[in-house]
Amino acid sequence: MSVRDTFNKHLLHPWSDLPNLGEDDSTPVIVRGEGVYIYDDNGQRMIDGPGGMWCMQTGYGRQEIADRVATQIVELGYSTAFSTINPLEAELAQRIAEKTPGDLNRVFFTTGGSTAVDSALRLCQLARNIRGEPQRKHILCRDKGYHGSTYLSASVTGKERDKTAMDTAVDLVHFLTAPCAFYQEQEFASEEAFCDFLIAELEAKIAELGPENIMCFIAEPILGSGGVLVPPKGYNRRCWEVVKRHGITYIADEVVTAFGRLGHWFASETLFDVVPDIITFAKGVTSGYLPLGGYAVSDAFMAEISGDNAEGNCYSNGFTWSANPVSCAAALESWDIIEREQLLEHVRDVGPYFQAQLRTLMDLPLVADVRGMGMMAAVEMSLGSDAEGEALLEQDYHLGDLIDSHCREFGLLVRPLINVCIMSPPLILTREQVDDLVSALRKALLKAQEELL
Ligand code: PLP
Repeated sequence: MSVRDTFNKHLLHPWSDLPNLGEDDSTPVIVRGEGVYIYDDNGQRMIDGPGGMWCMQTGYGRQEIADRVATQIVELGYSTAFSTINPLEAELAQRIAEKTPGDLNRVFFTTGGSTAVDSALRLCQLARNIRGEPQRKHILCRDKGYHGSTYLSASVTGKERDKTAMDTAVDLVHFLTAPCAFYQEQEFASEEAFCDFLIAELEAKIAELGPENIMCFIAEPILGSGGVLVPPKGYNRRCWEVVKRHGITYIADEVVTAFGRLGHWFASETLFDVVPDIITFAKGVTSGYLPLGGYAVSDAFMAEISGDNAEGNCYSNGFTWSANPVSCAAALESWDIIEREQLLEHVRDVGPYFQAQLRTLMDLPLVADVRGMGMMAAVEMSLGSDAEGEALLEQDYHLGDLIDSHCREFGLLVRPLINVCIMSPPLILTREQVDDLVSALRKALLKAQEELL
């Protein structure tokens, strides 16, 4: 049986299209990766536009990571964070604490981003219970935010498409408007006016629920899976000021934005002037090579729920692979590569070029918007709207599929989310490779345009 036949018969993939389960004829079979490129089973080479899943920071085929992981497997292939300490988790935690803002000095390791968000939210619940505020459980989050696939992390996820027919903790969560000016162009005269609206909405929601009932606010500094939504200038900082004023915990979900994606180890403070109480991370921490995630929490937060303040309590949350030494080895090597090859500086240098080159695509009628920052971007395509002004979403779905197959033909993998091509390439992408990427996308868009318009 071919790989595709076996896939159709035996596999269930994330976000499977259930009506067509078992009838896939287009998902590429990827067999190899090198640098920024991946290869399918026909030998077709493609630039990996989404960088795996926002995670391939240092690129594919890293012998250094392979060697360090292999050595670690032979030396100590497993140790449990339930009852032992491994030196690698200690070193990684120290490095993270040094790079996170403020006094975020304590690190909890998980197996990925969803478990990082879930664990952070459960830590907040524990904290409110210990502090004698059990009613303070409401969570503020945003439309189009993505935070994961566990029950709790999915509950705070605001993407419509991810809400189909699965139950979530609806009583606990409250969604605010997605902070993306592109979707609000008609309604607000300026970016400042839109930002004022968003902050007023946040204040109003806090007043409506009562600040004494709100546990936390969770936000990606730039919304990733929701379509790379870059908030209006000052938005993150103003949200932080509002929630801190009301004693609400601020969680920055940096699962995508950390480890160099925006040219810094963490983006919250450096780029957005925010010192969160908790920062979640995953993905790029190991350059995608092995599963690992976690959160860093402030000393001030932990002081309130430890020592004499925590009589009789323990943090009963953790995973078999929490702080797995092999994953930590991959993370430490990836970290060393980022430093050795100065990839943060590289992103700060090539990132603006990448954004500018992508923006040249705005001259194409199919392209409605290009936005992003650093090595994180989105090209949004649209076939416009019907006579009533409604977006032609069904056709937009088709448009995404079309662009996807044309891009592969021209040597680029994009995997659009409906009609948005998400770009999160390996951080090592050079200027020449930026040109190749943009040129492939332009050719694919032109070809689709000929067929559709
Ligand atoms: N948080 C953010 C911002 C994400 O983008 C993702 C995944 O895309 C997650 C959390 C969940 O991470 P994981 O898929 O590793 O569970």
